[in-house]
Amino acid sequence: MLDFWWRPLALIAGLALFSSLFISSQGNDIAWAVFACGLIANLVYHLRQLRKFSDWLSDPTRSPLQGDGVWGDTLYRLEKQLRSRQGAQQKVAADLEQMLEATRNLPDGVVILDDDNRIVWLNSAATRLFGLSQTRDEGQFLLYLLRNSRFSEWLQHEDYSQTLALTSPVSQQIDLSLQLIPLPRKQKMLVARDITDLARVEAMRRDFIANVSHELRTPITVIVGFLEAFEDMPGVVNPPDPVQFRKHIPLMREQSDRIRRLVDDLLALARLESQPEAKDETVDMVSLTQRLAREAESMSQGKHQIELVIASQARLIGNCQELYSALANLVTNAVRYTPAKGRIRIRWGELENHAKPNGEHSFSVQDSGEGIEPQHIPRLTERFYRVDQGRSRATGGTGLGLAIAKHVLQRHQSRLRIESTVGKGSTFTAVFPLERVIPVSTTPPESDPESAA
Ligand code: ADP
Repeated sequence: MLDFWWRPLALIAGLALFSSLFISSQGNDIAWAVFACGLIANLVYHLRQLRKFSDWLSDPTRSPLQGDGVWGDTLYRLEKQLRSRQGAQQKVAADLEQMLEATRNLPDGVVILDDDNRIVWLNSAATRLFGLSQTRDEGQFLLYLLRNSRFSEWLQHEDYSQTLALTSPVSQQIDLSLQLIPLPRKQKMLVARDITDLARVEAMRRDFIANVSHELRTPITVIVGFLEAFEDMPGVVNPPDPVQFRKHIPLMREQSDRIRRLVDDLLALARLESQPEAKDETVDMVSLTQRLAREAESMSQGKHQIELVIASQARLIGNCQELYSALANLVTNAVRYTPAKGRIRIRWGELENHAKPNGEHSFSVQDSGEGIEPQHIPRLTERFYRVDQGRSRATGGTGLGLAIAKHVLQRHQSRLRIESTVGKGSTFTAVFPLERVIPVSTTPPESDPESAA
């Protein structure tokens, strides 16, 4: 405070002292006149500074204000404050721009709405998911652009705790989950999340549970039916009549086997999915192929003509147990789906019918069965997909064999090729990449496929 007053007071005191020098030589009047002139000059100076300040206020982009004395101090403080406020404003603007940039690039669609549900701002994901245009639709009523009774009811209800599941107006294939978030100044943010993949996984999970339950239900119903029949048999006392009981044992056994096979396959799939990578070892493919051919012979019981072709001595880098279960499924399918007197050819070697051999090896099973119509082929590796339900069940199928085979091969960076001609037969080929093939010359220690079961 004193800082401010001492300069003007010192100026007035100096002016009074200076004027008093005129009293003795020029008289009182002249001295007062000098004093008054000094004050007027001082007043004029302040008025000019005030005018410059007023001009500057109307256009602060002009050059910074200059002044001395009281004005110098005041203007210096004003400029300092302005500069710090400008810095803060620039920081807020930069933060805001950064936030907007992040929101603009969010994978979720974001639409800011005003109190009347007019579009204030939207990001590019909202353009993609709702088909809105950033340039054309800002300022438009959202409900005029997205006409859906469930959506308008939900938006107008403004229950921020409720999400809404909606199909995208752009494509029937895109499922959205919508959420509203309140914002200051009566605005709100509409967030749209693409849940197509999530919905698909959820549908697959539901189908899978329904399929497993359905598969288990039939054999369990048969077994329970027999047990109830024994209980209710007239005249049968505990223990049940052994002759009657024994008559039904084979069917009960068959149904129990069916449950066991299904549970085994489900566990095998679960293991494959829960363990990220297979433990690699050296697999003697010649022994494995010979072993699978022997198993095919024993399963066929002489009904088929089985040919074994070993076209390469190469070994594989892979998991012996997993490869056995995948390839055994191809072999047992050939026996199960090929009528008696049919031919089955099991082969290990370099990939056949390849324009330019590139070192890829394959294990293939060719049969002379009835073949598969082309529309079924891409779906055969889906869980529980069967061309003929009755045939699969009658031959002890679980509907999971090819799903397991495909999964195992994927874990070995390999693929399953299916070729089939109706009336002629099918060939299932597991193709292994060069990186997994150990050429004949190198002989590292190997695991015994005979023990993998
Ligand atoms: P399943 O236990 O039913 O055999 P898979 O997953 O092993 O299940 O096979 C799926 C379906 O593929 C079978 O139900 C069958 O319709 C068809 N399939 C598999 N292998 C053959 C084959 N060699 N010949 C004809 N159809 C086959």
